[in-house]
Amino acid sequence: MILAKLEFECFEDTTITAVERAISGLITELKYNGQIIGQEFPTLLKDGYFVTQVLCPEEQSLAYNNHNKAVTIAISKLNDVGVLQPKISILGQEIHSDSSDPEHTPSWQVLYTSYIQTCSPLRCGDHFSPIPLYRVPAIANGCYKQLINWQQDWQACDQLQMNGRSAEFAALAEIGELDSSLTKRGMALREKFEQQTGVATYYYLYRVGGINATAEKERLCPGCGNAWALPESLHQVIDFKCDSCRVVSNISWDYN
Ligand SMILES: [Zn+2]
Ligand SMILES: [Zn+2]
Repeated sequence: MILAKLEFECFEDTTITAVERAISGLITELKYNGQIIGQEFPTLLKDGYFVTQVLCPEEQSLAYNNHNKAVTIAISKLNDVGVLQPKISILGQEIHSDSSDPEHTPSWQVLYTSYIQTCSPLRCGDHFSPIPLYRVPAIANGCYKQLINWQQDWQACDQLQMNGRSAEFAALAEIGELDSSLTKRGMALREKFEQQTGVATYYYLYRVGGINATAEKERLCPGCGNAWALPESLHQVIDFKCDSCRVVSNISWDYN
C-alpha cells in the first residue's frame, strides 16, 4: 500500500464548510471506487491549503484513468466551491499493509477480509494478494459501495468475536455460517464479481471452535455436504474449498 498526500488549493473565496463537504464527497467516492483504502482520512488546513492523507493500493491508484463517473463528478463539485483539482504527492510505501496483486488474470479469486486488514477484500487465489477494485469491471452503478460496506460489517463482527464481547456468538455466526445475513450479502457479491470478471470467485467462511483436530479436518462443505478438504493448506488460510458451492474455509483456528 502507498501513502499519498492530496493538496487542495482554493482559487477563489469560499467557506471552510463548503470545501470540507466537497473534499469529503470526493474522499467517499474514491473509497467506494477502491482508489483509497480505510475509514479514517485525516484532513488539515495548512497555509491556505487543505491537506488529506490517504492510503492507496498502488502508486497509480489516483490516476485519472482509474476514476469512475462518481469520482469525476466529485472532482467537478470541488471546482463549484472554488477548489482546484487535488495535487497528488506519493509519500511512499506503507509498511504495515499488504502489497497489491500484480496485474494479471487470476485463475481464481476470493472475497476475504479480517479486522486487521487495510486493503481490498478481493484477493487473487494464486498470490493471495489484494486486487485493487478499480481494476475490476464495476459491479453496480460504477462503484463498489456494497462490497466496502460488507467488508466494514465483516471486520466489525471479527473485532467483536476477537475481543470476546457479549455479542461474540452472534458476530461469529455472521462471519462463519453460510446462512447468515452477512454471508448472504457476501455470496451475492461473489456471484456478481464472478459474472463481471469471468474468474471463479469464492467466499471465505471463518471457522473457530469444533470438538477436536480430527473432526475439524473431516469437516464437510456446509453448502452441499460433500468432502471439500484440500490436500495442502493454501496461503496459510484456506484448508477447504468447494468448487460447486464456491466457498472456502480454514481448519478451526483452535486446532490450526
Ligand atoms: Zn495474483
Ligand atoms: Zn459444497
